[in-house]
Amino acid sequence: MAGLLQGLDASFEPAPLPAKSRPSPFPSRHHVSNAEAGPSTPGTTSKLIDLTNKASTSSSYQTPKKQRIGNTTLQSENGGPVADVDMDELLAGAEDWDFDDWVPSPKKPSPKKRSSVIPAQPTAKPRAGAEAKAFVPDPYTRCVVDAVGEQLDVRSGKDLKHQQVIYLQNDWYDTDVRPGDIVNAVGPFEHTSSAKPSIKITSQSNLLILHPDILLTATALSNAPQCARKPLLSSLVRASNDISPALVWGNMLHEVMQNCLSEKRWEEEWINEQIEEVLLNGLGMLLALNVSIVTARTELRKRAIGLQIFKERYISDVPKPDAILSDTRARSSDSAALLAIPQLHEIEEDIWSPKYGLKGKVDATVEAVIAETPPASSSPSIPAITSGPRPFEIKTGRSLAGLEHRAQTMLYTLLASERYGTDVPDGLLYYTQSDTVVRVPRSRNEIRGLIVARNALAGYMIKRVGREGEFNRKRNKDEEERKDIEEIGMGAETFLPPPIDDEHACKRCYTVDTCMLYRYAYSAKTSETKLPMLESPPTASNAPESLVNTYDLKTGHLTPEQGLFFRKWETLLSLEERDLVRFRRELWTIGAGDREKKGRCFAGMVVKPLTGVEQDAEKDEKNAAGSSPAGEGRVYKFSYTFVRSVKWAPSSQGGSSESDQRNLLNGHLNVGDPITVSVEPHLLAFAQGFITDLTPVAVKLGIDHKVDLEWIRARMRKDDPQFVAGEVVFRIDKDELFGGMGRMRNNLAQLFYANGDRKRLELVVDLRKPLFSPSIPPESLAIESSSSQHVKNLNLSQKEAVSKVLSAEDYALVLGMPGTGKTTVISALIKILVAQGKTVLLTSYTHSAVDTILRKLDDEADDKSGAGLAFGVLRLGNLEKIHPDVRKYTLSAKRKAETVEQLEAQWMGPPVVAATCLSVKNPLARRGGLEVSLFRRLSDAHPDSVVDLREQYRMNEDIMALSNKLIYSDRLKCGSAEVANRKLVLPNAPGKGDLTWLDASHRRQRALEKNCWLAHLASPETTAVFVDTDSLGPGVAHDSRVGDLVQNEVEAELVVQLVEALVGKWGLKKKDVGVISLYRQQVKLIKSLLLAGKSTGRAVEEEGEEVEVLTADKSQGRDKECVVVSMVRSNDHGQVGELVKDWRRMNVSFTRARSKLVIFGSRKTLKSDPLLAQFFELMEGRGWVYELPIGAHVVHKQDLERDEENVGVEEDDVCVVDEVVEGVRPVVEDQILKKAAGVLKGRPILQDLVSSES
Ligand code: SF4
Repeated sequence: MAGLLQGLDASFEPAPLPAKSRPSPFPSRHHVSNAEAGPSTPGTTSKLIDLTNKASTSSSYQTPKKQRIGNTTLQSENGGPVADVDMDELLAGAEDWDFDDWVPSPKKPSPKKRSSVIPAQPTAKPRAGAEAKAFVPDPYTRCVVDAVGEQLDVRSGKDLKHQQVIYLQNDWYDTDVRPGDIVNAVGPFEHTSSAKPSIKITSQSNLLILHPDILLTATALSNAPQCARKPLLSSLVRASNDISPALVWGNMLHEVMQNCLSEKRWEEEWINEQIEEVLLNGLGMLLALNVSIVTARTELRKRAIGLQIFKERYISDVPKPDAILSDTRARSSDSAALLAIPQLHEIEEDIWSPKYGLKGKVDATVEAVIAETPPASSSPSIPAITSGPRPFEIKTGRSLAGLEHRAQTMLYTLLASERYGTDVPDGLLYYTQSDTVVRVPRSRNEIRGLIVARNALAGYMIKRVGREGEFNRKRNKDEEERKDIEEIGMGAETFLPPPIDDEHACKRCYTVDTCMLYRYAYSAKTSETKLPMLESPPTASNAPESLVNTYDLKTGHLTPEQGLFFRKWETLLSLEERDLVRFRRELWTIGAGDREKKGRCFAGMVVKPLTGVEQDAEKDEKNAAGSSPAGEGRVYKFSYTFVRSVKWAPSSQGGSSESDQRNLLNGHLNVGDPITVSVEPHLLAFAQGFITDLTPVAVKLGIDHKVDLEWIRARMRKDDPQFVAGEVVFRIDKDELFGGMGRMRNNLAQLFYANGDRKRLELVVDLRKPLFSPSIPPESLAIESSSSQHVKNLNLSQKEAVSKVLSAEDYALVLGMPGTGKTTVISALIKILVAQGKTVLLTSYTHSAVDTILRKLDDEADDKSGAGLAFGVLRLGNLEKIHPDVRKYTLSAKRKAETVEQLEAQWMGPPVVAATCLSVKNPLARRGGLEVSLFRRLSDAHPDSVVDLREQYRMNEDIMALSNKLIYSDRLKCGSAEVANRKLVLPNAPGKGDLTWLDASHRRQRALEKNCWLAHLASPETTAVFVDTDSLGPGVAHDSRVGDLVQNEVEAELVVQLVEALVGKWGLKKKDVGVISLYRQQVKLIKSLLLAGKSTGRAVEEEGEEVEVLTADKSQGRDKECVVVSMVRSNDHGQVGELVKDWRRMNVSFTRARSKLVIFGSRKTLKSDPLLAQFFELMEGRGWVYELPIGAHVVHKQDLERDEENVGVEEDDVCVVDEVVEGVRPVVEDQILKKAAGVLKGRPILQDLVSSES
């Protein structure tokens, strides 16, 4: 890599390399593609804040209105007022804004204040010399490589019809391009009548971007010259402890200066205020550094001294005599230059460029006026003045314009040029410690070197991300899966550049631990391993002795088995991550309309202007939030409501009606999801944020950038001069890569580091037997002071569980089957452990499970004293997904800390921390091992460590029989005869011969009188039943699709009619009935049918009561007298789908019911799956299958639609979490799958039910 960038230092003398002609290193051939030409734009777009001294006094520009709320600044926007977006909470873990496709920039503070962007106005810059020419960006063509030989044969254009040729010359020749790869050819193709259009990529002209969908950050790329391995490793494993004082002071000073730029204030007093605010917001970093706020203040003030000098010198309309713009590469004979910065365009702008395969977050983009003074000898000696937007990077270190800084700034010139649609010939580097601004002109040679280096890095990364060949490769699914595994780490090709083994560099490398761990893991071998060694350890013959010693020090404690364990699990995480990367690419490779069909985008959206009433309501809401304790600490940024454009015409999709397609609830997007906002094709992901509210017709976003319609229109005119005014149409995409797997890998790696968690390495990886001290007999618990009051209501098996846990020195496993009182036991355990002075991490896969336990703790405390919990709880996670009752335990609900000590008390003080843990979606990763929970792994290895909760008090014996026979091998018992015989008796029971509404229905269709399906299902004797929809007639109740989501309209209708009858006619309380489906789209459909009832006046909310319609995941922790399950899948092909095969979720669904369980579905379809066949064997054997009579779904519809007052669904409940992605492939035989064993061995269906119920 260093070699690739050698040209950087000497790049001011263009030194084109001669064209080479060598045999190609890449044989074979291939085909296909998709292409588009890059846009062209003249002129400059204005989106400015005037920075000059007029700023504080002049009214020549528009100052944004501000309100102060809590500790944050609120900006009121045209067309987009600020709302109560809790961005702190929403941004939990969101340092990943910088987590790009794979390589992140170093963390920067999230901008607490955004610059306001002023609508187009004349800039105050002087213009001299020639008028700026219309800007025409380099065109680019997206191609798929057909064959690699002396030239690349590629195809591009719609349907990949255009055959073209790319010649790679000079250092481009060695690019690792292969058939099937996607490349961007940047530059014009030459057209001749006799040959295919062609382009030469040489040292002097044009660029080749390999795998352009991998967006490398400019920061990572600028770090690559020293060691290309380092940025890749630090993106794979995101360490949370690589924090240093220099980094913290640098980040804080950045923020102070950004505030100065955006607020146009530079007085000492004001700067000191900013320092205080930044310190308060950065208390977490100070805590991590163990530094007091006093020390930090001193450090920051020292470093901020230069800011006023900077302002005096550079913030001006015209360059001042002392405003030197340095050029560290200039010769003494070169002209001198002066700089003025009259205006700010934007701060912390995140720019993605699929054209160059780059992205970056620019500290600031400023309007720069540069006056070039010609050398004394030249004539005439009139200065030439140029102006325009320039990336402005703030550097707090001492070294001036080092290679890395130059490379980063130069790459930003490419990005800024794309964002602003204008030429950006250079960038600016400001060094705070030397009050120097350095100009970094963009140079062809340097850019070429950097792009060649980018391509080399992308060549490694693609092995993990997945080659793009899916455009044209018709692999079968098995082959595809095997390929997936091979490509990401089990195959023969390494995905990491080789180590540099440089004594000096490696000694100082911040990622040395990770580097050595990967080296060990990917070279480990046991007698049974057949995996190829992708790495090699350093030895005396190939590395300095000190490095060999370091390697021993870092990995000497590991065994080959442990190394292979890391390799396997690290690989599985990459599989999971691969899906996310693929989804991210869709933002620019798939049009909004097509992505909407996949449910991952809202297309055709416009900003909704607010009415006066709404504005008042927003204001009240904001004031309330700002003054309430819950509002403190919230960060308010920009908030907008978007609706569909009236002009948006959905394309026809699968027969869905237009109103269905306009319905914003018909997709994968939900409240709390991270999103990006784009204007296709002009501005890609120019704002990022979260969904804060979602209804069928509107989506409300909290985002990090202002949506300035005038500025956007001006920018659109650059690409399309015909666009003068009119509607700005946005696309809102789900940002799936948010978060990535870097943290998970770091957690995994922590077990294996030399100074890592040895105890858990032994217990989890080596499966060392857990130790127990002599256990306390359950009867003694009642007299122990710490436990007596908490166990008195527990039954024997619950007390045994508590006793086992208290005697565990390592771990104990409590297998809590459904309804056996897990929540009660966990709640008791938490209280006992806290009373013993211990700390507790409470975690589950779902928010609802975590919150159910916290609510129980709360309820019990209130019952006793009314004073709430006697100990502290810290609830971490996305506020939108946390139950309102327990939001009081989140950080945002606490008083904002003003000192490091206060923050430490808030973070470290509570003995109970509650959070969700990761759930896995990729089916291959799940089958490869990620679906095996820790509970399962440990219980398989050490059945002695498991204690069962056997007596359940929820389900009657028929409902219990389902789980017992299919899953729990009859170990589950009813806690009492009363529970066993429980039946659902409806207050206004149906039938009985009187003239009920049912009779009215039956008079219209006499044939159904004797076999009324509603009356049958409502009977107390019907306790567990499968309702077969096949008997309605061929295809009547078939499933259908909305995009790639599955629903079943007839089944939804039946479910809703049953619920309406139970609640509206027969008096069942709304809280006593629940509807569950594994399919999110079905949940939404059922909810919308119930909502339709509400909108016609049928449903009146009763306090605390609602009919809950839930996914299986969300139903965890709930129980209902009656549960109605909608299985959805019904088709002629026996397509059951992976969701229905997921017995963990099925079991959760079935075991929510106390007295009645009604399961709707197609027997014929579901029975085609072997696992479900066993379920039907049981149901049929017991006579629990009910065949619906023909016409059942319509016979009562009229009566049920006419009245009803009691059915309603909270709109808030529309948020559904933890959906499992569909589109699953069959299992492949591979080297990483393992069979189940141990305590659960021999049970035919159980895969990992323990984990969901533990
Ligand atoms: S330890 Fe050396 S080889 Fe490994 S990443 Fe760091 S600098 Fe590169």
